[in-house]
Amino acid sequence: MPELPEVETVMRGLRTAIEGHKIVHVTLNRHDLRWPFPANLREEMLNQRVVSFSRRAKYILMRLENKWSVLFHLGMSGRMLIGSVGQNEPPPKHEHVIIESEEGVRIGFVDPRRFGAIDLIRTADEASHPLLTKLGLEPLSSKLDGPVLQEMFATKRHTPIKTALLDQRYIAGLGNIYVCEALFKTRIHPERTASSLTEEEAHLLARNIQDILTTAIASGGSSLRDYVQSDGTRGGYQDLHLVYGREGEACRQCSSTEIQRLIQSGRSTFYCPSCQK
Ligand SMILES: [Zn+2]
Repeated sequence: MPELPEVETVMRGLRTAIEGHKIVHVTLNRHDLRWPFPANLREEMLNQRVVSFSRRAKYILMRLENKWSVLFHLGMSGRMLIGSVGQNEPPPKHEHVIIESEEGVRIGFVDPRRFGAIDLIRTADEASHPLLTKLGLEPLSSKLDGPVLQEMFATKRHTPIKTALLDQRYIAGLGNIYVCEALFKTRIHPERTASSLTEEEAHLLARNIQDILTTAIASGGSSLRDYVQSDGTRGGYQDLHLVYGREGEACRQCSSTEIQRLIQSGRSTFYCPSCQK
């Protein structure tokens, strides 16, 4: 599933490829993904220049000259194939939406499992879109720091820190992998209550969340070519995981303990019982 760093990478790829371009062809091969496409989707995109791109949590926003924004969510299996007009013939399987620019760039939205989403919203109203309005702090925002984390979780006396960090209403789009990695790096046990963070821990946790995401985005950047070719495979941050997906393997910090897995709110948590207290 594309996590925040992959979504950021895709957004940057789109920005590089098509920002400033004029959209001259829009092909919709279906009328829905997770939800039906807006009836005016094609019409509002056609003959518009792409003004800018932005990311909010795991949503990509493509802003158009006519003050409409196209919202993309990659769902479980979505990918953006960035190429040239005339490339990808015949089109790849599961390519549901194709956008072509006058300048010759072709963007294909491929999503085999169809949990992705595309919607339209007035640019001025982006923040009040139903999918965006309840989202909490952007994890890479400069606003995320120790005092903010401590304040955020001050009343969470019964919620494990792991669960609280995954709650989109507090921090948006962090994702299971990065929560596990950040708790490990900060040496915090995932079952501790969210309100138990000390000032020092909150400070380190905020810093580690941002470091881990920044590193992941940097390595995602090197796999950008995967989004250019239809047969690309993903590389990237997974080689750098210290705990995630490593159940039963030796801890990379203390070497003497095996990484454990537990289930919290239906999600796997990976941690080292020796290093994380
Ligand atoms: Zn350890």
